[in-house]
Amino acid sequence: MTNDYKVLYRKYRPTTFDEIVGQKYSITMLKNAVKNNKISHAYIFTGPRGTGKTSTAKIFAKTINCENPKDGVPCGTCQSCLNSNNNADIIEIDAASNNGVDSIRELINNVKIAPAYSKYKIYIIDEVHELSEKAFNALLLTLEEPPSHIVFIFATTNIESVPITILSRCQRYDFKKLSNEELSTHLRNIADKENISITDDAIEEITYLSDGGCRDALSILNQLSTSNESIDLEVVLNNYGSVSLVQIKNIVNAYVENEYNQIKTIFENLEKASVDYKVFLKKLIDQFFQKALECKEQKNNHLYLKIKDTIFELNDVINKININVDPFLLIFLILVKNVGVQEPNDDIDSVDVIDSKPLETKTVEKKDALTKSEKTPLKESKTVETVLETNDSTFENDTYLAELKKVRINNCFAQADKTLLKDSKEKWKQFNDQVSLVDTIKSIIIDMEVVLASSTINLITDAQESIVEMFNANLESIEEKYEEILKQKIHFIAVSSSEWESYKKDYVKKIKEKYVYQLLEEPIKVLKENQKEVEEKDNYEDVISIFDKEKVEIK
Ligand SMILES: [Zn+2]
Repeated sequence: MTNDYKVLYRKYRPTTFDEIVGQKYSITMLKNAVKNNKISHAYIFTGPRGTGKTSTAKIFAKTINCENPKDGVPCGTCQSCLNSNNNADIIEIDAASNNGVDSIRELINNVKIAPAYSKYKIYIIDEVHELSEKAFNALLLTLEEPPSHIVFIFATTNIESVPITILSRCQRYDFKKLSNEELSTHLRNIADKENISITDDAIEEITYLSDGGCRDALSILNQLSTSNESIDLEVVLNNYGSVSLVQIKNIVNAYVENEYNQIKTIFENLEKASVDYKVFLKKLIDQFFQKALECKEQKNNHLYLKIKDTIFELNDVINKININVDPFLLIFLILVKNVGVQEPNDDIDSVDVIDSKPLETKTVEKKDALTKSEKTPLKESKTVETVLETNDSTFENDTYLAELKKVRINNCFAQADKTLLKDSKEKWKQFNDQVSLVDTIKSIIIDMEVVLASSTINLITDAQESIVEMFNANLESIEEKYEEILKQKIHFIAVSSSEWESYKKDYVKKIKEKYVYQLLEEPIKVLKENQKEVEEKDNYEDVISIFDKEKVEIK
C-alpha cells in the first residue's frame, strides 16, 4: 500500500469516460451527444448504487463545458477544463440531505444567473428521488422553461420515486450492474497498482459479494488490504459473507454430479442462523441459472431441463414457506429430489433396484426394459437393445418406452371408466401416503395424480416433464411398490399435464368421429416370445469374438 492512504474508491474514482467501468452504451451515447453538440437540458442517470452514475455526471459536465472537446473528450487546457476541480459553474447537490423546497428555491434563483466562465451552468442533483413533493414542483417550473445555459443532471437509485412529470422532461440513461468480468478485471488492476497481493479466487468472491457494485467491491478490497497481509479466499470468507460463492458453486456442482452426500454435508455445515434464506435462495438460483445456460450452450438438454425444473421449484419456495417449515430443509428437499437419479445411457453395472434403498443411494432403477434384464437371470430375460440389434442403447430404450407409452395410453382410453377413476384416485392417495419419505419413489410421485383409469392401467400426470420422465423410467419398481401396499397389480404410465390436455382433445375428436379404440399389445410381451433364440445367437457370437473365430462348441 502507498503511504498517502486514500480510500480506494475515492482514489480510483474515474475522471475520464474511458476510466468508467462498464456502461459502454451510456458512455457512447453521451460522447456522441457532445460530438454532435446535441446537449439536452435535463438528463437522468438511473441504476443501482456504485455503478458510476455520479462519476459519469461529473465527467459529462466537464466535457460539455469544455471549449474544444475532441471525440467527446475534454481538452484539459481550456479555462473551463483547468477550473474543473473547483468549477463554480458545476453545482453538485445531494438531495438526500437537501431535500426541502427551500434549497430548490435557492437553486432556482441562481439558475437565472449566467455561468461564470463556461458554456453551461450545470446542476448535478444526486439521489433526486429524495426531493420533497414541493421541491419537485418548484424544480418542474424551471424544467418546463429552462434558460438556454442550464443543464440538469439527475442521478437516482430509485427511478420509481421520481415523478413522471420530471421524467418526461429528461433524457434517461440506465446504468447497469457491472458484470463479474468487468468488476474482477477492475479489482485486479487496482490491486496490482496498489501492490495488494490477492488471489484470483479471492477477487472472484469479492466480485460476488458486491453484486455488481464497484463501490462495494472496492470497499471490501480496501478493508481487507489494511492488514498488509496477502488476501486469499479464506481471508475473504472469514471477514465477509456467511454463504460464499464457493459454497453455492459446490452445491450446484454436487447436484450436477448427483452427489447426494455432498449436498447434505454442505447443508449441515451452513451456519443457518447467520444466513438469510432469501439471500441464499437468490444466490443459488443465480448459480443454477448460469449452469443452465452452460448446459444449453453445450447442448446437454437432459441436464438443462432438469436444472430448469429445479429453478422453477426453488423460485416457488418463497410462496411455500410457512412458520412451521425450515426453509433450508425445503430447499434441500427440492435439490435432492432429482439427485441420485441415473441419467439414461449411464453405466449399467451401477443400476440397482430402487424400492428398498434409502434416499442416499446414488443408483436408481433404469428404464423398465433394462432393469428387467438386471434383475432376472440371464436365461429368462432379454434386454430390448439386443432384440432390436442396433447399437445406440439410449435410442432403443426411448423407442421401447415411447411404444409402451403409446400402447398403455391407448389401452387405458379403450377401457376407461369414470367409477374406476374415482376408486383409482382414492387408492393412489393411499399409496402416496404410505410410501415412506426416505423412498426415492416418494419424491417422484408426491405431486402426481391419476387422471384416467381402466381396470388394469392408470394414467398419471405431473406438470413437470422431468418428473414424468423419471416416473416412466421407474415404472416397474413403482408398480411393485403399489402391489405390495395395495395388494393390486396395476400398470401405470405417466404423461405431462400438457400432453394430457392434448390427449383429451384427441379423444373427444375421435369419439365424435365414431373411432373405436382397439386394445394393443405391449411391446415387452412381443419381445419375450423371441428372446430365447436371439439370446443364444448373441451368446454364441460373443464367444466367437473372444476366441477370434475359432470353432467353439456350445451346449
Ligand atoms: Zn477543455
